[in-house]
This record gives sequence, C-alpha cells and structure tokens, in this order.
Amino acid sequence: MAYDYDLFVIGGGSGGVRAARVAAGGGAKVALAEEDRYGGTCVIRGCVPKKLMVFASTYSAAFEEARDYGWEVSSGPFNWHAFKSKLEDELDRLESVYQRLLDNSGVERFSQRATVKSAHEIELADGTVKSAETILVATGGRPVVPEMPGSELGITSNEIFHLDELPKRMLIIGGGYIACEFAGIMTGLGVEVCQWYRGAQILRGFDDEARGAIADGMRARGVDLHTGTNIMEMKRLGDHDPDMDSAPIGDRAPQALRYDGPRGKAGQIWVKSTTGGEMVFDQVLFATGRMPNTEGLGLARAGVEVGRRGEAVVDAYSRSAVPSIYAIGDVTNRVQLTPVAIREGMAFVDTVFNDTPTAVDHELIPSAVFTQPEFGTVGLTEEEARDQEPIEVYATSFRAMRQAFAGHDERVLMKLIVSQATRRVLGCHIVADGAGEMIQLAGIAVKMGATKEDFDRVCAVHPTMSEELVTMKTPVRTA
Ligand code: NDP
Repeated sequence: MAYDYDLFVIGGGSGGVRAARVAAGGGAKVALAEEDRYGGTCVIRGCVPKKLMVFASTYSAAFEEARDYGWEVSSGPFNWHAFKSKLEDELDRLESVYQRLLDNSGVERFSQRATVKSAHEIELADGTVKSAETILVATGGRPVVPEMPGSELGITSNEIFHLDELPKRMLIIGGGYIACEFAGIMTGLGVEVCQWYRGAQILRGFDDEARGAIADGMRARGVDLHTGTNIMEMKRLGDHDPDMDSAPIGDRAPQALRYDGPRGKAGQIWVKSTTGGEMVFDQVLFATGRMPNTEGLGLARAGVEVGRRGEAVVDAYSRSAVPSIYAIGDVTNRVQLTPVAIREGMAFVDTVFNDTPTAVDHELIPSAVFTQPEFGTVGLTEEEARDQEPIEVYATSFRAMRQAFAGHDERVLMKLIVSQATRRVLGCHIVADGAGEMIQLAGIAVKMGATKEDFDRVCAVHPTMSEELVTMKTPVRTA
C-alpha cells in the first residue's frame, strides 16, 4: 500500500526534529506536525531559557565578588524587561533555526495539532487525514500541578519566562530539578525565595552527601529552604479580606516559617503549609513534576499501550505495541533529558530506516542540575552502589581558591564511588560552580569503565577544582 509519507512525526521538540531531519536526510519522505512552537520544551520553555536565566542570575554574586577582588563596581537592580525582551528575540531566532533545519532537510511541516487515528493514519486539527508507514510520537511532557484549593493561582515553569514583572517574594513548591534551579535563579535576580519541599532532603534520588552540600549552598546563597513542608491551600488576597485584616501574617506563622515583612496586601497570594504556617507571596511556582503529553492523542484507540503516568509504553527500540508506531523522549517517561530524547531519535532512525536495530543505551548518563551551587553527576550514588557491592568512597570537601580569596565559606564537593572488586569508578558526583562542564568530561572516563587507578594516572591540572578528582589518595570510608 502506498502511504503519503514514510514517516510522520508528531511533535517538533528536540527528539522529534532530530529524528525527522535525519530520516529525511537519508531519503525518507517525512512530515512533522507541531501544535505549539518549534523547538519544544528544551528550546522554548526549558533548558535554553532556563540556562540564560541562570547566567543572568549569577551577576549579582559576581558584582559582589568583583569588589572582593579589588574592583570598584556598583550594581544596580536587574532589569527584567530588558532581559525578557532579549530572551524572546533569542527564542524566536532559535525557533526559526529549528524550522529552517526541517525545511532544508525536506521535511514537510504542519503547524497544527495532530492525533493518531490508526496504526498508519494521522488526523490533523483541520480535519485532514494523512497516512504514513511509520508514526513517531514525540510529544514531550507538561508540568503537573497538585490539586488543592486555589492551586490555579500558581504558575509553572511554562509561565515563568513570561512574567510581566519579577515578584518581590516568591514561593517555590518542590525539591526536584526545576524547583531547585529556579530557587537559585530567582534568588540571584533579587527575588526573596522561599522553597517548600515535602521530603526530608531536596533532589531525591541523587547522592545523599551531594544533596546535603547543595542544600547548604542554596541556603548560604539566600534561599529560604524548608524541608518536610508542603502547601495545602492558597488564595488571592482581596481589598478588604477579613482574615487578613485581623492580624499580621507573621503573627500566625510558626517560627520556622515566620515572615516578618509587612502583612499581605490585595493581589498577593496567601498560602497555608502542612506545618500550619501562613504566609503571603507575590507569586507561587509549582515545580512538582511533569507528565507525558498523551491526553487526547488517540494512542490507546490505535492500540498503543498507555502506562499509569500517561506514558507511551515502548520497548528498548522505542517501538510500541503497534509495530508501525514508535515513541521517543519525555512522552515515554524514561529519562526526561533532551540529549536522551535526541539519542532515542537517532536510534529510532537507525532501527527503522538504516537497517540497524539500535537499542537506546540508558546506562551511565551524565547530567547536571543548574542549581547554585551547580551539580554534576554520573553513575551510581553511594547509597545505590553500596547496596550492590563492596565499595570505597573517595570524597573531599574544600573551599575553592576563588571563593576563599573573596572571603566566602562555600565548599566544593568532589566524590568518587569505586568498586572494591573491579576498581571501576561507579559514580562521580561534583558540587561546584562549573560542575556541569566537568561532569561531561568525567562522564567519558566513567562510561569507558575507567578504574580509580586510571584516574590516579592522570596528571592534575593545577590550580583547578577538578584536579581533586585525580589526587584523592585514601578512601574516606568503605561500605
Ligand atoms: P522532578 O521529578 O525532578 O521533581 C518533582 C518534585 O516535585 C519532587 O521534589 C517531588 O517530590 C515534588 N512533588 C511531586 N508531587 C508533589 C505534590 N503533589 N506536592 C508537592 N510536591 C510534589 O520534576 P521537575 O518538574 O523538577 O523536572 C522534571 C524533569 O525534567 C526532571 O526529572 C528532569 O528529568 C528534567 N529536567 C532536567 C533538567 C536538567 O537536566 N538540568 C532541568 C529541569 C528539568 P518527591 O521527591 O517527594 O517525589
């Protein structure tokens, strides 16, 4: 049977665009539909604008540090409008690059929503039905907001790049990547940030010692971080709110959550915590996880299994229960990272169009959390490794030269987890400014199976922070 296309991709984010243009580059007839902006979460409302905000936010500390180094500089307030307008221009530019990449590879673009009609059919929002030999679902994910009274007053990472004004006081809910990254960003931009996380320590799933070091560093930089605390209720203060007229908010907050500023005023958001505290904020950000974008996509109707979190269930080759339908990226809820989605897209093309069945390798993926201080990590945590086999832990915590000279107390953490049996480095965890850049390189060694002795054979680069990775001689503990 002749189809309209060899491949129809639904979703123009990092994974979908890469798969579409590589397949088209190899001679396949390819179409792609995108209902929102080309570039997807990473480019439009994720990694890229976030990283630019990280850069913007580090200048407040840089001005201060410059003075510690003898510069006579004075810093003014951050101009959100000037930054935002530049950011929007940059995102427009990147979106057009993505569109051009597709056009230049001969991919036909449909800028509208598409749903799966059957194993080989796609229905566009305008009612047109297209057929394809293979369908690739790359629709990504979206933020989840917990249900509670007033939760519609909060924003998510989707909205944070579009704020009309920066809030004076902001509450961030969550303790994952996005919550912790934005706590640092907003603090650096001059916003008073309070962060509530329901668990005992932020960044669940990462190395415990690193989590502690990051939490300490975030607090030292001004984030008012409360663990064991969640939000229960929120409401917008009105002009004559009787509750708010009766007592200053601070009087009703337990000591740990006390807010000593002026009492709430109309337009602000009043929140109540699970620990009984009541506070007011100008903005509340929910960074409480993301879920796959499969709602109304027609997957189940076409026979694709949809999992409990709404994910498209696929095998190691990204193939669903329907042999002609594949899915990659966040919609599969495997590893929610852009480079992983891109690799899944490439593996999909090799499997389907290049006659080379390629399972996606999800082992030893290095990643960075752009907290302040930054976190770079690859491999097993100490806790995971010691459950698996006998290990040695090499770790050092020290004041980096640059900060020490400036008179700051902040500490850097460098940590290696080593197998006692094979001597392989099973995990590497770095909490330091620039840790994201460092872990990319350490990740090569760890992925290659380097042993502790291989690390030791490498001459130190002096004076750097990362030289500690090759100079740690004695384990701090074995387990
Ligand atoms: P995460 O899964 O990392 O974190 C979600 C946080 O929200 C957790 O702390 C979780 O708590 C908490 N939470 C979940 N439900 C509730 C609730 N009902 N009430 C209160 N708190 C709740 O999700 P993010 O949204 O931060 O990020 C999504 C994914 O995007 C990440 O997992 C990551 O893969 C990716 N990402 C990667 C980045 C990078 O590479 N630098 C940057 C940003 C995102 P608990 O721990 O108790 O479950």
